[in-house]
Amino acid sequence: MTEVGRSTNYEEVDRLGDDWRLARRCRACGSWLTSPASVAAGIGPSCAQRESGR
Ligand SMILES: [Zn+2]
Repeated sequence: MTEVGRSTNYEEVDRLGDDWRLARRCRACGSWLTSPASVAAGIGPSCAQRESGR
């Protein structure tokens, strides 16, 4: 039986959650965002600038 992973995994994910959820993609260009601010905005700095700047 190898069904042990499940609940253990959830705890693990919960503990690391905030960290790896920071990996998110820019909705404009699709590249990975790593800075918390960009992730919060869902868009990269340069793309955000381009969007709001025009
Ligand atoms: Zn972008």
